[in-house]
Parts: sequence; structure tokens; C-alpha cells
Amino acid sequence: MAFLQLKGVEKYFGDLRAIKGIDLAIERGEFIVFVGPSGCGKSTLLRLIAGLEHIDGGSLMLDGRDITDAPSSKRDLAMVFQSYALYPHMSVYENMSFALKLAKEDPAVIREKVERAAQILNLTPYLQRTPRALSGGQRQRVAIGRAIVRAPKVFLFDEPLSNLDAALRGQTRVEIAKLHRDLGATTIYVTHDQIEAMTLADRIVVLRDGQIEQVGTPLELYDRPANQFVAQFIGSPQMNVIEGRHLPTVPEVPAGGFVGLRPEDVTVQPAAQAAAGGLPGTVELVESLGAETLIYVATDSGAQIVARQATRTALHNGDRVGIFVEAANAHRFDAQGRAAR
Ligand code: ATP
Repeated sequence: MAFLQLKGVEKYFGDLRAIKGIDLAIERGEFIVFVGPSGCGKSTLLRLIAGLEHIDGGSLMLDGRDITDAPSSKRDLAMVFQSYALYPHMSVYENMSFALKLAKEDPAVIREKVERAAQILNLTPYLQRTPRALSGGQRQRVAIGRAIVRAPKVFLFDEPLSNLDAALRGQTRVEIAKLHRDLGATTIYVTHDQIEAMTLADRIVVLRDGQIEQVGTPLELYDRPANQFVAQFIGSPQMNVIEGRHLPTVPEVPAGGFVGLRPEDVTVQPAAQAAAGGLPGTVELVESLGAETLIYVATDSGAQIVARQATRTALHNGDRVGIFVEAANAHRFDAQGRAAR
């Protein structure tokens, strides 16, 4: 059996069936990321695992033990919240040692564990400060440190970086990745952020409306999405999905189906230089991001397509262009949005 096993897990809030029979097997040491649109049930599923919400149906097993109805404190899990949830009047050291003290751990052992965690997280110089005297990123590291000292069986993270600015978010993300590499702890992480999901996860779980749409490695989801929903949820800018009739050059599209094209698989050429066979269109917007350029095109047939190229462009709004795609890079979906292979 897997290290953490969810079987038919259900959650109701009144009449709302928020979690609909989730089955999921997580192996020891895996880094699992839950993603999905707002309200799909990511946080609820994490809270059910943490024991912060009661499970209404199904079962939860951790390391061979049934913890479906175990209280949160008896599950051997540690949760790190978006809001940090630090004690404001306690020093960093006291915050990090609090749970161990409650557990009546030996003071010498507490000191050793806290100092070790502080070292891993670069918090040694701040141990005597209160959280108020720390930056957002440092506070988040204290919250992580508090979880580390307990050496739980599973770490649970609920959007831990969403209160940080972009630069700090990037740095802290790299720290979390290193931490996972060094500690090898089983981790479940909820995020809205594509880059966090793609870079941190061993496997991503895509949720929608309380159900799992697909589970796979980041590149499996990117290269072989099971359906149009996953295809458009993973990747930024999102995959172009257009009616097959717009692209007569792409064969084997199911009747009434759709073609999916990653923006990096679309080539745009000025109409005057375009080879024959391109899909004619007009540039609607050019976004220059420095390292890459996004070109938004309206085709004459009425489709909207975004292309991403790693070079700069001489194209401008209103320019006439031809669009080219390699049939080998096209994803095909049937009329219901399921991947056709
Ligand atoms: P977000 O990304 O916006 O945080 P989420 O995917 O984490 O969303 P949840 O917070 O798990 O979604 O919510 C799932 C569904 O359950 C939503 O429809 C939400 O309104 C509902 N819900 C969550 N908590 C409660 C609650 N305590 N009482 C009633 N309904 C709730």
C-alpha cells in the first residue's frame, strides 16, 4: 500500500458536495502539488488530510495506519499556512520550539533540533527576534522551520508563498525545492502558481469541481493532457484550443473536435515572406517580455491564436501574417474535450 492512501474521500458543506470520492496514492518522499481553479477543493482536500475538517466518507491511511477519524494532533503531519500563523509575542526560537516543548521533549534535544532547522533555513541570526522584526520571506521560513523540527511524516503546505512579492517568491520556491531534496520528506503543496507546480512537483494533481481530472508528472501533464481542461490549465500562456475546421493542415481531428497548440509550437511570419499554406491572419497585439515575445493573431477564419517565440519581432499591430503549425505538435480533442490519440 502507498505511504498515504486516500480512498473514496468525500466532504460535504451542507448540501454542497465539495470533495467527490477522491482516490489518490502518494508514495513516501513524493512532492505532490494540488492545482485547480478557485473553489475546486484544493484547500479542503488538504485540510481533510490534515484533520482540520471531518471526512464524511471514504478513508485515509498513513503509513499503514487508518487516520480517517484521528484528531489532527495525532496524525503526525505538519501544516504550513499562507498566513504563517506565528505567535507574535514569541521569539523565532520560541516559535520554532513551541510544539516540542508541548510534547515535553528534552530541552537539550529541543535546542539541537531548532538550531539545526535554523541552520538549514538560514535563520540562525534571527533566533532571538520576534516575527514583527522579520521580512515576509523570513517569517515564512520560520513557519517552515516550526514544521521541520517536528519531523512529521508528511508536510502540508497551503499556498505558502502567496503573500510574498515576486522576487522573494522565486527565492523561497528554490529554498523549498532544496529543502525537499535534502530532507526527502513527503510533501503535499497547494498552489495557484503554475511555476511552483511545474518546478516543485514530482506529480501534479489537477482538481476540478471536487474531482481529480488528471495525475501525472509535470511534463506528462504538459505533453499529454488527458483533456482540454488540463491542457488549458497547465502552461502559460495557455494552450490555444481551436475548432478543427480552422486548421485543415492538421489531419485526424475527430469530427466536431478541437486542435490544441502550445504557443511555442506556433510560428508567425509576415504575410509578404510567408511560405504557401499558412493560415492568414492579422496581428492584434505584440507583448515583448524581453527574453520572449508573445504575438496575438486573429485569423481570417475567426480564430484567436497566441504564438510565443524566443526572439524579438519586427511585427506590429495590424500587420498581415501567415500562421504555421507542425501537425506533429498538435493536440487533438474530441467534441467533448477528451484527448484523442
Ligand atoms: P481557492 O483556490 O479559491 O482557495 P480551493 O480550490 O482551495 O479554492 P476550497 O477552499 O477547498 O477551494 O473550497 C471548495 C468548495 O467548498 C468551494 O465551493 C467553497 O466555497 C466550499 N467551502 C470551503 N470551505 C467551506 C466551509 N467551511 N463552509 C462552506 N463551504 C465551504
